[in-house]
Amino acid sequence: MGSQEEIIQVINLVKTYGNFTAVKGVEFQVHKGEVFGLLGPNGAGKTTTLEMLVGLRKPDQGTAIVGGFDITKELKKVKEVIGVQLQSTSLFELLSVEEILHLYASFYPNQVSIPTLIEEMLLGDKRKSRIKSLSGGQKQRLAIALALVHDPWIIFLDEPTTGLDPQARRTLWDIILLLKKKGKTIVLTTHYMDEAHVLCDRIAIMNQGELIALDTPSQLVKNLQSDSAVEFRFENESSEVELHEIEGVTKVGNQKDVFVLYTDDLQLTLTSLIEMASDQQLKLTDLQTRTATLEDVFLHMTGRRLREG
Ligand code: ADP
Repeated sequence: MGSQEEIIQVINLVKTYGNFTAVKGVEFQVHKGEVFGLLGPNGAGKTTTLEMLVGLRKPDQGTAIVGGFDITKELKKVKEVIGVQLQSTSLFELLSVEEILHLYASFYPNQVSIPTLIEEMLLGDKRKSRIKSLSGGQKQRLAIALALVHDPWIIFLDEPTTGLDPQARRTLWDIILLLKKKGKTIVLTTHYMDEAHVLCDRIAIMNQGELIALDTPSQLVKNLQSDSAVEFRFENESSEVELHEIEGVTKVGNQKDVFVLYTDDLQLTLTSLIEMASDQQLKLTDLQTRTATLEDVFLHMTGRRLREG
């Protein structure tokens, strides 16, 4: 840890809207050159945290040092070293890709090469197209390109792939990994655990305004101390069942009428579950087993799923 250079230090950030506290004293550090993910369900406070880090919302308490500058005192300096893509970025629909990039670049003394940027964002054949004719994925890549015209070192992306189809999401993942390869530090928010797993070196899990875990994706899953999850329902009423007593079970979760058993010994747990069900004349349905994932880490820590439904 000690040898890592901390490019962002978040110190006790608090944000209150009226009498509702959306961010409750969040603290974390981001290492230079990593992809850092803020993961959590809708309403967790991810966007509010990100917006404070980029100077769009004023913290009620606490601060952050971003690229060496304090966001509450040196925001102008912060803005020179960061690039920001927000969910709500609205683009001038009638301009072409090339025109809007030149326009944005003209606001800054330092600029990257626009033709190179267009190629890197895989927009080469859309260079002269009007923005309104672009697909969702292309618009999103353009929004990222706009965040990069002044060659920032730290890039903030708010839910960069929400609403995109699977292929467009994957293209965007490649672009984020390319930026990392070029030495940029990337902070992104997401509620997709697969995305967090693929992209992020470390993940901070947020829930109800608090940071509830921070680690590498694989360590977060390892900390569950369960390799597998067994999911099922009972066809009939089952309030009496003592699922904790099933062999091999490390944790029990449930969401409505679906039960999840975490286990470090899948075979033992399955055998024991089926025996218990038949002893008590319960019928198991929708039985599935899977490797434990980040979704399980979240479910275990909060009793809720990242995405409802
Ligand atoms: P996330 O990005 O994790 O979905 P947000 O930071 O957008 O979470 O929101 C956190 C909470 O703060 C939510 O309950 C949201 O409704 C509330 N919130 C966000 N912005 C405002 C605002 N401008 N006024 C009042 N409440 C807000």
